[in-house]
Amino acid sequence: MNKGGFVPVKARLSREDLSFLAGAREEVIMFAELGVRLLDLHRPQESGGITSDPGAPIHRCRACMARWPCPTFRAIDETLST
Ligand SMILES: [Zn+2]
Repeated sequence: MNKGGFVPVKARLSREDLSFLAGAREEVIMFAELGVRLLDLHRPQESGGITSDPGAPIHRCRACMARWPCPTFRAIDETLST
């Protein structure tokens, strides 16, 4: 970074590179919002069914009803924790 606070770039950028860079910031924000909305949908709730261990009730995802943590939550969680 130079004294003016800029990084001088001498790379040769194609039209595709420029349009990718122009949209990248908005797209990252969009994907982050999508992740937050998906996490908001996929939350655990007590399944209310008969369980062998009353001290550890089975939780299911309230959106897809899969056993908690559901595959959608796991996919987002694994992606964000890498
Ligand atoms: Zn789910």
